[in-house]
Amino acid sequence: MKLSTIIKKGILALLFSLIGMTSIATAQIKVVTTLPDLASITQYVGGDQVDVFSIAKGYQNPHFVDPKPSYIVKLSRADMFVTVGLDLEKGWAPQLVESSRNSDIQRGNVGYVDASKGISLLQVPQKVNPEEGDIHIYGNPHYWLDPIRGKRVAQNIYDHLVEIDPENTEQYTQNLKDFKNKIDKKMTQWQQKIEPYKGTNIIAYHNEWVYFEKRFGLEIADFLEPKPGIPPTPSQLVNVIKKVKSQDIPILINSPYFSSKSPNVVKRNTTIKLVNLSTMTGGYEEIKDYFDLFDYNINTLVEALENQHSK
Ligand SMILES: [Zn+2]
Repeated sequence: MKLSTIIKKGILALLFSLIGMTSIATAQIKVVTTLPDLASITQYVGGDQVDVFSIAKGYQNPHFVDPKPSYIVKLSRADMFVTVGLDLEKGWAPQLVESSRNSDIQRGNVGYVDASKGISLLQVPQKVNPEEGDIHIYGNPHYWLDPIRGKRVAQNIYDHLVEIDPENTEQYTQNLKDFKNKIDKKMTQWQQKIEPYKGTNIIAYHNEWVYFEKRFGLEIADFLEPKPGIPPTPSQLVNVIKKVKSQDIPILINSPYFSSKSPNVVKRNTTIKLVNLSTMTGGYEEIKDYFDLFDYNINTLVEALENQHSK
C-alpha cells in the first residue's frame, strides 16, 4: 500500500469516527406513536431529546389505519412506542409492533407505553357483544379529547422516558411541568369561550366526543352510527332527524374521515348546522399540535353556535 493511500485511509477513518461521535452526542430517543396527539404530547415532554413519528395521520380514522411495511421499519428502530390502548388501534397496531421484532417496545417492556394507564374511562360497558360490531368494548377509547386527561397521558410518557433516558430526567421533569401548566392556563380560556353554550345538545357521527363533551359541558344527544363502528343506517337517520326536530338540536359534528353523505341527509331534513371538527392533531392543516386541536375545535364550535343563535 502506498503511503498516500494509508494517509487517506487514516483521514477517512478519523472522519468517520468524528461523525460517529457527533451522532452519539446528539442521539435522540426514537419514539413511534400510533396517533399524532400522542406524538405532540411526547414532543412536549421529550423536547430536543426525542425524534417522534406518528403512524396515523390526523385526518385518518384512528380505528382503521392501513399497516405499511415502512411503519414496521420505523418500529424496528424505535426506543419507545406509545399507544392509546384499549381497543382503539387493535385492528392495526399490535400486529405492527409484533412484526417489528423489536423486543424493547413489546408490551410489558419499558419501551411500550400504554397511554391509557390511570385514565378514568367513560362508557365502560356492563356487558359487551363484539359480534354486533361494537369497537369500544373496554370503554370509550377517545380520551385524548379531554385536555385534563392529556396531562395524565404526558405523565405516562414521562414515566417511561426517564427510565429509558435517566440522564435527561431534569429536562423531562421541567418539560412535563411546563406542559401541565400550559394545559391549565389554556383550559381557563377554553372554558370561558364555551361557557355561554354549556348544555347545548349536539349530534355526532361517531361516539368519539364523550370526553370532550363532559369536559366542556356539552350534551351529545345521539350519533349517526347506530353503534360505534357500524355505518349509519336509514332507521338510525330517521331517529336522529326526529330527535333534532323535537329537541331543536343546533349542531351536528362530523370528523375529517367520515363521509358527509349521512350528515347531509339530516341537514336537508332539519335546520341543523354541520360542523367539521378534528379529533386529532393534523386533522386540518392549521392544527399543528395538541393545543391547536382544542383551539380549533372550541373556536369552530363557538363560531357555529354564535351564528346559529343570531339566525
Ligand atoms: Zn371510536
